Amino acid sequence: MTPDPSCTELLERVSEYLDQELDHDTCRAIEAHCRHCVGCAALIAGLRETIGLCRAATLRPLPESVRAKARTQIDELLGRGRTAE
Ligand SMILES: [Zn+2]
Repeated sequence: MTPDPSCTELLERVSEYLDQELDHDTCRAIEAHCRHCVGCAALIAGLRETIGLCRAATLRPLPESVRAKARTQIDELLGRGRTAE
């Protein structure tokens, strides 16, 4: 990931990694981005509470409902959350 990813890059990365731990560099890039991006900061804060993003605590599989909710939030921010399920 680039040192200063765009919102789209950042959120796509987070979406990819929902099922597993984010690597350290990605976590740092996310944190750096969130310092100057209110929208992503809010989303990441929510995801941290929901799924323990960037924490070693994510050792057990996430319930599908939690993953689906997180993906929905990300998709909405990426502007593609309007597709019908
Ligand atoms: Zn952003």
